[in-house]
Amino acid sequence: MSAVKGLKERLRDGETILCAEGYMWELERRGFVKLGEYTPEVVLDFPERVIALHEEFVLAGSDVVQAYTYFGHREKLRSIDREEDCKSVNLKALKMARDVADKYGKLMAGGLSNTTVFEPDDPDIAGKVAEMFKEQVGWAVEGGADYMIGETFNDFQEAKLALEAIKKYGNGMPAVITLVPYTEDRTTDDVPIEEALKRLEELGADVVGLNCGRGPLTMMPLLVKARAVCKGPLAAIPNPLRTTEEQKSFQSLRDPISGKPLYPSNMTTAICHREEIQQFTQDALKLGIQYLGLCCCNSPSLFREMALTCGRDPVLGKFSPDHSKSYLFGKTTKPHREKIRSFMCGDAKDIYISSNTGPMS
Ligand SMILES: [Zn+2]
Repeated sequence: MSAVKGLKERLRDGETILCAEGYMWELERRGFVKLGEYTPEVVLDFPERVIALHEEFVLAGSDVVQAYTYFGHREKLRSIDREEDCKSVNLKALKMARDVADKYGKLMAGGLSNTTVFEPDDPDIAGKVAEMFKEQVGWAVEGGADYMIGETFNDFQEAKLALEAIKKYGNGMPAVITLVPYTEDRTTDDVPIEEALKRLEELGADVVGLNCGRGPLTMMPLLVKARAVCKGPLAAIPNPLRTTEEQKSFQSLRDPISGKPLYPSNMTTAICHREEIQQFTQDALKLGIQYLGLCCCNSPSLFREMALTCGRDPVLGKFSPDHSKSYLFGKTTKPHREKIRSFMCGDAKDIYISSNTGPMS
């Protein structure tokens, strides 16, 4: 545990918590996670990459360093024949997160995620999943986590098991439990999302909410419904992806050119504009959401947009875009520059100039 102000105290005082998530996909984008397996062995094999990303998210404005233990449970590591590394992956991930959090005066969160083996109404599987959660919560206590995140649960029953493990074995650590909404407005064990969140809150989760699955545009309506029934702090951690009414989840997104599914290899095609992140952040703040972040396809530059919109002053704020100083889009444009601009942007050149949000500078 650290000496910095705790999660519950911050929430009680009406503060907003910014939590950068999405380590798995960002490390995949950088080449250090294998698509299909999605396992976090990078923690042991290239630890400096994980530390670097922790630091980048903190410098971009995250209040929390989330240990990269996503899919770090026994079941997933067994699938790559590294079950014997399970404990060391978890403890190493927690240690790195703790060190970065202490260096910058941030909170450190341990993490549980959907196990991918859960089956509703199957007591044997529930027992197996509960054991995996117990083990990971124990390691998080040992690793000095300030609180626990239980995330991307598509089944209410599995989320409940995670919450129970945190309450039982977490040594009093607060619990943030987030469900993943896909194309339907209910969990895959058929509980309406807002009802599932309400129940998790009643079961003692300190923060409930949504992470992953949907982008800002299609997550917001569910957040409005959740706000109407939940009493306590809500979490909103969408993917920064351009999901729509027709393609509500990021897994259902299609390539605008080929029409083929973008998931699971090419979602970066659909990354949100910065302005869309700003808009979502403003809307979430207006709705009274106190726990905000971005999930899969998050990056330091997009997370910085969220932090700046919240009125923060992140270290990386100094590198946020300013096209007024661009040699092509700035005010002191010479005729040849205009010609270059025209070659570059074609018909779009005047739009870029007037909006000052050129694609390159
Ligand atoms: Zn995600």
